[in-house]
Amino acid sequence: MSLILDLIFPKKCLNCGSNGQYFCSKCLSTQRYNQPKYINQNSKEGSLSLFHYENIIKKAIFELKYHFVTDIIDELADISATRIKFTFPHLLKYWQDNHFIIVPIPLYITRENWRGFNQSIILGQKIAQNLNLDFCDHTLFRRRHTYTQAKIKDINLRHQNLYQAFYSITPIPKNIILFDDVASSFSTLNSAYQSLNCADSVRCWYLTLAG
Ligand SMILES: [Zn+2]
Repeated sequence: MSLILDLIFPKKCLNCGSNGQYFCSKCLSTQRYNQPKYINQNSKEGSLSLFHYENIIKKAIFELKYHFVTDIIDELADISATRIKFTFPHLLKYWQDNHFIIVPIPLYITRENWRGFNQSIILGQKIAQNLNLDFCDHTLFRRRHTYTQAKIKDINLRHQNLYQAFYSITPIPKNIILFDDVASSFSTLNSAYQSLNCADSVRCWYLTLAG
C-alpha cells in the first residue's frame, strides 16, 4: 500500500523538495543538534532536546501537528533514534541497563480528538521500539487544555496555565524518560514531572525532539 502511495504521491524533502524522502541527507546534514544537559536536581537527572527547533525539523513538526502528515512519523522517529544510538551510546546504555521507560506527555482529550492522534505517543512509541526501551502511556494524564507558555506574558498566568495540569496513576515506573515533541523552557515537562510524585528511587530524564 505504501509503495502504491509512494508512486502516486512521491515523498519530497520537506526542506528542499528533492524526491525520495522527507528528510534528505543534504538538508539533514545542516540541521544543528544539541548535547544532553545534566540537571541533578532531586530525581531529575538530565534533559536531551535532540535537534535545534529550526529548518527541516521545525517544518516536519508543523506538518505533523497542523497538516496531519502522519506519514512523516517513521522517518522522524528513525533519525531521532539513530542520533541517540550513534552520538550518545553511553547515555542509551545507561537508560537500557536501568530499564528507563519512555512516558509521553499526554494531550488533553479534546485536543487529541481534534487532531485525531497525539504525536508524542506515536513518536515516543516508535523511538522506544527502535532503542529497545519500554514505553508506557497509561500512567500520566492531562487534566485540562493548556496554552503555549511562550505566548503568555504575565508570569502569574504562566504559572496558573500549568499548575496541576497533569495527574498520574500508580504504579509509576521506577525510571522515566518524559517525552515530548518540542520544549523551549521545559515548563510543561516540569509540570508533568511534579505530578509523578517521584520518590527518591525514581530517576527522570526529559527527552524532546527539538528545543
Ligand atoms: Zn532536502
